Amino acid sequence: MSYVSINPLTNETLKEYDPLTRGQTVEAIEQADEAFDCWRHTSFDERKNLMLRYAAGLRERIDEYSRLITLEMGKRISESREEINFCAEIAEFYANGAEKFLADQPMEVDDADAYVQYAPIGVLLGIMPWNFPFYQVTRFAAPNIMAGNTVLVKHASNVPQCAQAIHDLFRDCGAPEGVFTNLFIPKEFIKSVIEDDRIQGVSLTGSDKAGAIVAGEAGQKLKRSVLELGGNDPFIVLEDADMEHVIKMAVQGRMTNTGQSCAASKRFIIVQKVADEFLSAFKEEMSKLKLGDPLDPETDVAPLSTEEAAVNLDEMVQKTINAGATVVLGGGRPDREGAFYNPTILTDITRDMPTYDQELFGPVASVYVVKDEKEAIQVANDSSYGLGGSVYTKDIDRARHVAEQVDTGMMFINQPTNSQAELPFGGTKHSGYGRELSHLGILEFVNKKLIHAM
Ligand code: NAP
Repeated sequence: MSYVSINPLTNETLKEYDPLTRGQTVEAIEQADEAFDCWRHTSFDERKNLMLRYAAGLRERIDEYSRLITLEMGKRISESREEINFCAEIAEFYANGAEKFLADQPMEVDDADAYVQYAPIGVLLGIMPWNFPFYQVTRFAAPNIMAGNTVLVKHASNVPQCAQAIHDLFRDCGAPEGVFTNLFIPKEFIKSVIEDDRIQGVSLTGSDKAGAIVAGEAGQKLKRSVLELGGNDPFIVLEDADMEHVIKMAVQGRMTNTGQSCAASKRFIIVQKVADEFLSAFKEEMSKLKLGDPLDPETDVAPLSTEEAAVNLDEMVQKTINAGATVVLGGGRPDREGAFYNPTILTDITRDMPTYDQELFGPVASVYVVKDEKEAIQVANDSSYGLGGSVYTKDIDRARHVAEQVDTGMMFINQPTNSQAELPFGGTKHSGYGRELSHLGILEFVNKKLIHAM
């Protein structure tokens, strides 16, 4: 049994699903391919109607879906509701914008009529993580279905109820069979799905380890891939920043989704002049946070997604402490049931420590004290990852100058990295390649085809 839903608050098994057989997997690919033959010829209006029904369905069933997210992977209920609303916004954004984003683009050439047409390419495979179980799937499926492709989704094995709910919602909204299909497949089948001639591309959101494997498999077959991988986002504080605002943003940036976000603020890089002030205020605010049941609106810190996630995080933290890091706050698990981890602040982390260049996926902040702006940029760039980041100063020109020198796919000024339907999302280096969301997200899996007439 590889798809098991377990409540990380209680460790209770909620539901189990049988994985598909190889035969069933091939049937699903066949169905998605057959669906593509029709779906590619549908009008934007027809696709738009489906996507608007999906958005409406999310809003209508928000209580049910947000509770499902919270029970299955532990997210605080208010954040689960935000996730469902955000999915509806993404679906509406592509429903209303796809025709414009994919309109033929005239080319300026002498003595000819030339244009680029954006044509769908076929069946796509999405491999998705558990941390935002509705959002990750929606940001992959909405643009690609609107572009005329059909999608298969292999969701993370610990959120099968969310995976099934999304599949059922597309069906209930009238999506022709094969346009959106959830695949409960064992990981061992993924290579053969990618290799199948009917699959035209693969999009993976997850760890860099899984990304490298999947991109390699796609590359062997000369297929396109989009990779949205891990991050170790810098949060740079310069001496003239508004400290009260900085602390609010630091807590939000690190603690959203109990720290389990690819683009969470993870490395707090503070110039020396304000480092003591930052550390004491950050510690004070982080220590006020209350652990509890994620269904309770009073809870600040939810359990992590699984017991295994909490055990792994603790192992990395203990290794860092044993190697000489200083614990400013927390540094371990509370003595209570559930996959909890105490809000933690570590400092004095050096380059030779095991976690220096690793992502800590939970409520653990690493604080680095630097001499000045120049050193802040150096430390920010001293990372294998390059997803997002943020910089804090009252001088916006200075902030832009710093932002332009940090090697990431996204930089935010005076707020942590966040995601909006209209804005491109994605990274560089080991954080992956390609972009999701915005008009760029819908252009990843289309044939940008030149038509030229003399
Ligand atoms: P993960 O282990 O890589 O899992 C993500 C997905 O990949 C799951 O569906 C998983 O299936 C599948 N997978 C794992 N190994 C695979 C393999 N060898 N071949 C094919 N598929 C494979 O990631 P995670 O640790 O659960 O998720 C957290 C990671 O995702 C973090 O690094 C986080 O930063 C990153 N993330 C990135 C973004 C972004 O937009 N850049 C967004 C969210 C999360 P199973 O569940 O069956 O193992």
